[in-house]
Amino acid sequence: MSEQETTKENLDGYDYIIVGAGSAGCVLANRLSADPNCSVLLLEAGEWDRNYWLKLPVGYVKTVFDKRFSRQFQTEPEYGTAGRSLIWPRGRVIGGSSSINALLFIRGQSQDFDDWQAAGAKGWSYEDVLPYFTRIETYSGRADAGRGKAGELSVSDLRNSNPSCQAWIEAAKQYGLPENDGFNGGSNYGVGAFQLTINNRWRESASVAFLHPIRSRPNLTVQTGVHVSKVLIHNGKATGVEWMKGGHVLVSSADQEVILSAGAIQSPQILQLSGVGPKNILKRHGINIKVDAPSVGQNLQDHYMARTIVRLNKPQSLNDEVRNPLRLMSMGLEWLFKGTGPLTVGAGQVGGGACSEFAIEGRADLQFTVMPFSADKAGDPLHRYSGFTAAVYQSRPESRGYLEIKSDDPLADPRITPNYLSTELDQKTLVAGVKMLRDIYQQPAFKSLYDKEIVPGSSAASDEDILKFARNSGGTVFHPSGTCRAGGDTKSVVDPDLKVRGVRGLRVIDASIMPQIPSGNINAATLMIGERGAEKIIKSAQS
Ligand SMILES: Cc1cc2nc3c(=O)[nH]c(=O)nc-3n(C[C@H](O)[C@H](O)[C@H](O)COP(=O)(O)OP(=O)(O)OC[C@H]3O[C@@H](n4cnc5c(N)ncnc54)[C@H](O)[C@@H]3O)c2cc1C
Repeated sequence: MSEQETTKENLDGYDYIIVGAGSAGCVLANRLSADPNCSVLLLEAGEWDRNYWLKLPVGYVKTVFDKRFSRQFQTEPEYGTAGRSLIWPRGRVIGGSSSINALLFIRGQSQDFDDWQAAGAKGWSYEDVLPYFTRIETYSGRADAGRGKAGELSVSDLRNSNPSCQAWIEAAKQYGLPENDGFNGGSNYGVGAFQLTINNRWRESASVAFLHPIRSRPNLTVQTGVHVSKVLIHNGKATGVEWMKGGHVLVSSADQEVILSAGAIQSPQILQLSGVGPKNILKRHGINIKVDAPSVGQNLQDHYMARTIVRLNKPQSLNDEVRNPLRLMSMGLEWLFKGTGPLTVGAGQVGGGACSEFAIEGRADLQFTVMPFSADKAGDPLHRYSGFTAAVYQSRPESRGYLEIKSDDPLADPRITPNYLSTELDQKTLVAGVKMLRDIYQQPAFKSLYDKEIVPGSSAASDEDILKFARNSGGTVFHPSGTCRAGGDTKSVVDPDLKVRGVRGLRVIDASIMPQIPSGNINAATLMIGERGAEKIIKSAQS
């Protein structure tokens, strides 16, 4: 049966209902439906990921702000961003944000997960989570005991070589940073080429890896284009969900569990709409309170990035290449016949981690992302000069934001307040990162290419100026997380088994359960959460 042919009658009486077919949701759908005796309903707001741009790695620049595939949330204007409201795109398509992301694959640093455990998420230390990272992937690079060889997700080394990126790596080494051969060995310290979620020449989203291969399982129903409005809770137990499609409101029931995998914005939103959230907010919007859970929507974290742009003195930027029709054609041919070249990249190609003077015990607290091109923002036309971009963000910011529903309308956006750069450490660390980038540009290996700094430019000389620049023009790295924090304390939203406190038969399994944002990009950790969460569900059904 195709996904469109499912009828109302067979959307009832499932063992498990998963809300959201994103990074975590696709892993869960795969693992839970592996048992043919177990029926699974996967509900997704977006449509199937058929569009060509969702498959081509460089298609990222087209899809990220395309409303057919991406829902555009907006943050509240705030002091941290000089009164600007930022767009936070989130995948609304099968594969979720993994279908529109920039494909960088970075697990995070070992201490990130040890910190989760120390924060009360028992069983989530690095040692605990490592086998799950390994299990989900097949890494096509050099043999390494810590890397997977039999998982569904293809992870590959960078398949594009660019002389200006290479010069930047050499310059960073001259500056004093070591080489890091892929950022998936427990430390992000050092510089090198990134690994990407690519299979051969194609994007490897969570859907490509985990959902498409098992779509035909008879015990799995995937329903697209449906908006889940709330979890139904009776006598303290989640019994199903209410969802909307084409003007109809429908209900589906789950005998075992409902799992929210709607991402760090919409999982807490759905909880609040279901009556699980801060009492005062629920009351304000006339929502029947099931559990007064003050932490739902709190602990919001994101990486906030400042971008420097320099003009090269040689035409070695992609900005130059895309204006040359012959070069464009050769890029296409290179992609087609060799599966390499600029079309196999989303945005960042090389980069790495460094320690500012505020880092503790040599644990990288800065992350660089370097691109051999420049534009005002993702998806905008490339600049007409030979631009080169190096961005930096603080790996583990202290600033904490929150989100809350603005009304009881399930289709309305929640209010999102990130509180970017609200602590002194965050401000100083980001300024240190921009200064470090400037120092790297001045090393001999890059100096020979360097013409002029365009952004922030010579007017941003003092620390104060640099901070002002960061507030005026910095942006999200698209990593919202932490809004349904896992922990051992009664105030955490979910317990270490990812069960929602106060409601039986309900879990949250996605980026929102992270107690603290990992040091690098967060898709890898979200997939790991999906894998580990699925195992927890299966084990508890067996016990
Ligand atoms: C533009 C962009 C670039 C990024 N680049 C990178 C990168 O290069 N590397 C990296 O590691 N990370 C990157 N990330 C982050 C990473 O992709 C995400 O953090 C991760 O995919 C989140 O997974 P998730 O399962 O928590 O949520 P998602 O993957 O966002 O999935 C949530 C799903 O739930 C669905 N949903 C939500 N609400 C409802 C509802 N009410 N009813 C039904 N369905 C619903 C959504 O449509 C979506 O499909 C990027 C993210 C974005 C947006």
